[in-house]
Amino acid sequence: MPNKPTVGFIGAGNMGWPMAACLVKAGFDVLINDSRREVANNFVQQIGGTAPDTLRQLAEGSDVIVTMLPTSVIVENVLGGGDDNIFAGLKPGTIVVEMSSGVPSVTQRLAEQVAALGAHMIDGPVSGGVPRARTGELAIMVGGDPAIVDKAMPVLKAMGTSVLKTGAVGSGQAMKALNNLVSTGGFLIGIEALLIGQRFGLDPAVMTDVLNAATGMNNSTQKKFKQFVISRKFDAGFTMGLLAKDLSIALQVGRETGTAAPLSALVREMIVSAETMFGPGSDHTEMAKWVEKLVGDELKSG
Ligand code: NAD
Repeated sequence: MPNKPTVGFIGAGNMGWPMAACLVKAGFDVLINDSRREVANNFVQQIGGTAPDTLRQLAEGSDVIVTMLPTSVIVENVLGGGDDNIFAGLKPGTIVVEMSSGVPSVTQRLAEQVAALGAHMIDGPVSGGVPRARTGELAIMVGGDPAIVDKAMPVLKAMGTSVLKTGAVGSGQAMKALNNLVSTGGFLIGIEALLIGQRFGLDPAVMTDVLNAATGMNNSTQKKFKQFVISRKFDAGFTMGLLAKDLSIALQVGRETGTAAPLSALVREMIVSAETMFGPGSDHTEMAKWVEKLVGDELKSG
């Protein structure tokens, strides 16, 4: 592994674009790919790096390959499916870092295929959303051989300030799905509380301030309620479809481990129904509107 590895980056979407931009800023040579070719071209024009014509060429030129794609199905296809794929050009010793919020069991299977080609795969899903992707301050949960994780550390540190080792490959993604389960539960209960309080005569913005000064505080009360719900902006940059996927992964891990999780199942069902109502491309903060519909009120402030 060279001192400054060349990084192939696949998936320049809401998260991938700012993450890859952090790599360019940190001085890495970046080979960028997105199925929307114009997005990859725009990245090269606006940020830097180069956009190889094929995934095979990207693999041939990369020491580290990051995937930041919507689902494990797509990751599987990019790595080993289709006419053009990463496995066709993967060099022995290359480290594949699967940073999407994917399905742990699929990633474990892919890691075996990568190992059979003489390369290495770790998973490093992220938390912190688009704002922290922009500033390179993501939390990254990394699963895989610790020696390989250490080799990839300079690349990870360019995108995140807290890089936490979680265990074997796939464990980062299990952790990520469970994090989003907890985060979503906190959001939903908080919105219900605001709606109850509003009927009682409390102002939702004042309630949010009080929660944030008291023990009811969570990430949603701090960073989502005023910013995206009470403001009615609903533009946090993380879609309902991706959140529903994460919750399904969390429940799948629950099933695979034989763990009863009735409250988690309710949270997942609420988000899947919000996805049906508002569409997979709606912002995840629109789940507040679903709770409002159940109650028959809208949150208003002032
Ligand atoms: P996104 O839909 O904005 O971006 C995905 C990108 O992948 C798009 O640019 C798309 O064109 C590209 N793509 C799709 N199929 C492709 C293919 N076959 N080959 C190459 N490129 C392809 O999604 P996002 O919000 O950036 O999320 C990416 C991953 O990160 C997801 O797994 C998501 O769950 C996770 N995540 C998102 C957030 C967030 O706040 N948005 C936060 C943490 C984790």
